[in-house]
Amino acid sequence: MGIASFGKVDFHTGDIEKMIWTDEQIELLKTMWVQGKPASEIAMTLGSDVTRNAVIGKSHRLGLSGRPSPIKKNKSKGLNIIALTERMCKWPFGDPKKPDFHFCGHPVEISVSYCAEHRALAYQAPKKPIATPRY
Ligand SMILES: [Zn+2]
Repeated sequence: MGIASFGKVDFHTGDIEKMIWTDEQIELLKTMWVQGKPASEIAMTLGSDVTRNAVIGKSHRLGLSGRPSPIKKNKSKGLNIIALTERMCKWPFGDPKKPDFHFCGHPVEISVSYCAEHRALAYQAPKKPIATPRY
């Protein structure tokens, strides 16, 4: 404790393990990584001594390697409300009171509520008592 916040990368061995990360740097790495920032940009933000390889290596050790892509495809479990964005189909699946309730989540044009498939469903059967999402 009390020494420099992080060590230099040992360029002779390429040992990126020698970098000592501060909590602040780790938090910043996590935040930027989740936002989908490129490793080179994260490295620049963290400091001039931080290399892109150090960022990638650290993120792998933190278990961050599988960051979500900005456009998330609808998986079998679907997307929960928190994951819903302006650009996703808001067609509801299941009972909103149940934990497995989710929306279609298919990528859509901005300001369009449903994907083509669900838009067709919505307009073909307007009388059908489907739970209407409040968006
Ligand atoms: Zn849909």
